[in-house]
Amino acid sequence: MQHSAPEDGEAGLLLARAIENDRVHSGYLLTGPNAAGTRVALGFVRALVCESGSGRACEACGSCRKSQQAETAEGTPAAIVLDGKGKRGPTYRHVGDHPDLLYVARGADDTRITIGQIRDLQGALRLRGFDGGRRAAILDGAEWLNASAQNALLRILEEPPPRTTLVLVAARPTAVLATIRSRCVRVRLPADPEAGLRDPETPAETSELVALLDGLPGRSVSQILDAAEAYRGSRAEAAEAVTKLIDVSGDWLRERVTAQALGGERPTLRALDAHRSLQKLRRDLVQRNANPQMVAERLLFGLRDAVA
Ligand SMILES: [Zn+2]
Repeated sequence: MQHSAPEDGEAGLLLARAIENDRVHSGYLLTGPNAAGTRVALGFVRALVCESGSGRACEACGSCRKSQQAETAEGTPAAIVLDGKGKRGPTYRHVGDHPDLLYVARGADDTRITIGQIRDLQGALRLRGFDGGRRAAILDGAEWLNASAQNALLRILEEPPPRTTLVLVAARPTAVLATIRSRCVRVRLPADPEAGLRDPETPAETSELVALLDGLPGRSVSQILDAAEAYRGSRAEAAEAVTKLIDVSGDWLRERVTAQALGGERPTLRALDAHRSLQKLRRDLVQRNANPQMVAERLLFGLRDAVA
């Protein structure tokens, strides 16, 4: 069984609506923590071929039964293991044993998704005649595509076979060629609430932001203005970076409030207000086109005061 976890809500809803309205794009790029991305991508492609057309996998139709993934003893979907060089195993797999759902990831022993895997995928997409149904391929960990594999993938995206959808999952969207990104609908996934801000696996980008936030109480006005200077430049990139800052700040605040609660303290009103302010800053940035650097300044000053 493959269910979307509740925290996948907004992204899951967006994808479900695309199916319901029969407006499915030929390329999607899901960005966020890899485990969440894989889960959402699997749920999405299963829903794509579900006979109910409801936007969710109904789990009852023939198609859903085919696309069900084997489970581990813990009841989570078993990992799909591949051999990128195709020597000891296939270079791609199916989701469950559904013939129209393909899955590509790094081979178990590989550091990259190889061009051979993309060629095999392209062959598989060409091979199967068009019978009117939808088809989809997941590229899990798309940041591990090497340059030639990315170019091969770009050619598929430039001339996608009919009713075929490629779903790229990447933790770091900037590792994917801009030409690929521009052909995909971007879907951002919220940070995994289970993933800590201070784990060994925490990405460096996140750790740097955590260090910035940790240091806020002692920062002067000019130091904070300096820190916000990092969010100058092209609006698209700066806005993306500030969105990340807002995400990490939300997790960081939650961590503080949880720590206070565990220590028997009641969360301060200021901390709760700071949460609301973050949501407002996000709206300003996304809906009102606010200047990213200004948003970063307001966020950093606001958080400094909230935790003072
Ligand atoms: Zn179904």
